[in-house]
Amino acid sequence: MSVEKPRMQMDQLVALCKRRGFLFQSSEIYGGINGFWDYGPLGVELKRNIREAWWHDMVTSHNELVCPPGAPSPYEMVGIDAAIIMHPQVWKCSGHYDQFHDMMQSCRQCKKLFRADQVPELLRESEWVESLTQALGFSLDDRQVLVNEEALLRWLRGKGKKLAPGLSLLRELDSGGNPGVDHLAKITSQSWSPWELLAELGADSQQGVAKRVPCPECGGDLTEPREFNLMFETYVGAVRDEQNKTFLRPETAQGIFVNFKNVLDSTRVRIPFGIAQIGKSFRNEITPRYFTFRSREFEQMEIEFFCHPKTSAEWYRYWRDRRYQWYVQLGLASERLRLRDHSPEELSHYSCGTADIEYAFPFLPPGQFGELEGVAHRGDFDLRSHMEGKLVRKDGCFVVELNENGEPKYRGSGKDLTYYDDITQERYIPHVIEPSAGADRAALAFLCEAFAEDEVPDEKGQPTKRTVLRFHPRLAPIKAAVFPLVKKDGMPEIAREIYGELKRHFNVFYDEKGAIGRRYRRQDEVGTPFCITVDGQTLQDGTVTIRDRDSLRQWRVKKEDCVAELRERLGAP
Ligand code: ATP
Repeated sequence: MSVEKPRMQMDQLVALCKRRGFLFQSSEIYGGINGFWDYGPLGVELKRNIREAWWHDMVTSHNELVCPPGAPSPYEMVGIDAAIIMHPQVWKCSGHYDQFHDMMQSCRQCKKLFRADQVPELLRESEWVESLTQALGFSLDDRQVLVNEEALLRWLRGKGKKLAPGLSLLRELDSGGNPGVDHLAKITSQSWSPWELLAELGADSQQGVAKRVPCPECGGDLTEPREFNLMFETYVGAVRDEQNKTFLRPETAQGIFVNFKNVLDSTRVRIPFGIAQIGKSFRNEITPRYFTFRSREFEQMEIEFFCHPKTSAEWYRYWRDRRYQWYVQLGLASERLRLRDHSPEELSHYSCGTADIEYAFPFLPPGQFGELEGVAHRGDFDLRSHMEGKLVRKDGCFVVELNENGEPKYRGSGKDLTYYDDITQERYIPHVIEPSAGADRAALAFLCEAFAEDEVPDEKGQPTKRTVLRFHPRLAPIKAAVFPLVKKDGMPEIAREIYGELKRHFNVFYDEKGAIGRRYRRQDEVGTPFCITVDGQTLQDGTVTIRDRDSLRQWRVKKEDCVAELRERLGAP
């Protein structure tokens, strides 16, 4: 199996998601709103199955009193559901208020905004860059490029004018006079690396501004990168002033930290234990893109696992491996899935070890992977900051950040968030391991992985193309479809009876319209693992046909055994 799925399949998948009701653009009838998505009837089932699989596998079925394989000791898991809007001090102490930003650049010509680190990637995908490189016969990966003046002028006056009207060289030539002519002569008189060439084409030859690559959208002049905080602001109450300003949470994790003591005091959990939460998070992403991959509203599935500092390294390894395996077990091919340890430079300000679980999404350039989940060793950073105030790293340690008067810049709660072990009589601030997953990215990865096109025999045995979503049965939105072969001879009545019985246990679908082959293919397209057909033989011996989506194998079972058969095949509890 190849690591990369063809990129072209992405367009087909996006179309399928809309056509069959997995995903819709938010507020579509008003032209949509960038970075927001709505899940349709099938999408909502898929995402619910992902959430339920996660909650079942990580929380309810893991209240283990015996030591799980690979873990240093037994542990317990509990859940919470915290509010989306929290006290603004939470975000000041967590570091989000000061540090949760991306570097942003805007285009002086078309006014579009870009995340600075994404500009090179966006240029690779840019329509005008593709057109330019084709016209001049070079690639962005070449070492040196020598530009032919005639070819460049032809491109500037043709496609360039349409696709890259903001390009400085073009604007200079259009306004007549020497600057444009001199600039053109400079560009065509020497060889360049492709990226230098792009920067030179976009540079203002008069002002001698620092050379930056031009705008991926129109070729215009990009501003210096500047900080942009990703938190959505809102106001609590009637008065819209600084005092009442707060934020939509950019992660669910902080809701867990601030409830650490409440959970300890209200349950009988002992360290090591984990608190899990699933909920919406909001980030005002500068460039939402790649379908739902980078959205402005999304759902996270996070665990904060509290443990003794002496065993935290082992627990980090445990969660890192366990979370990777979870995706493999649910059908993400391990060739397209990888676990990548962060290099020391990449680590967040709090982290003493982070690994990302990444998937080779088909919309990414070949060889690139996108993050599905981050597993971070956060030490005691979060509990300490909510106790003492915002922390900063100084000489390799974390200390409370002070303002110009020598007082804590942002005061913590002052509450005691330590843990007292009444057996060992030891008091300490627990270390935290955080597996932080995105439900929407997981849904997108499962969709990409499941999508396939193959050939199946039609009713006459002739090969016909079909689109199929090969979801793991636990994730499939519809578990089985029930069909009467024809709409007569009492078949619909029997099929409806079977459907009614199955519906009490699984999400099933009933369909009696159209040729049976077409009904099978409609179910294949949405990933239904089994189709149950009532046919002539059912009237004689009370058996029905079950068809398997992937192997296309068909077998018969007694109609009253359908629930047991499905339960076994779906691996349902
Ligand atoms: P990225 O580097 O892609 O912006 P991140 O490292 O900021 O992600 P985390 O803060 O670790 O992400 O969030 C945990 C998980 O939440 C991510 O692994 C991802 O699955 C999900 N997530 C984060 N940002 C988004 C987003 N804008 N849209 C959809 N899912 C997201």
